[in-house]
Amino acid sequence: MNYYCKGCSYRGKTSGSGGECPACGSFNLTRGGKTEEQPPPAKWRLILLIGLWSYLIIMIIWKLLH
Ligand SMILES: [Zn+2]
Repeated sequence: MNYYCKGCSYRGKTSGSGGECPACGSFNLTRGGKTEEQPPPAKWRLILLIGLWSYLIIMIIWKLLH
């Protein structure tokens, strides 16, 4: 069960002693479980990662050749 703060978008397994957000101290904490917002799809993250890595590799090869 995770906590989610609407105030600062804190996400964690712990809340404050009075049920407040440990990050910003507001009481806008909601308990996760049924997550309304879905995490961004891992697909485009993977594509981005591959893109960045291929850019890096191309740059290294370019540096070696010149
Ligand atoms: Zn917060």
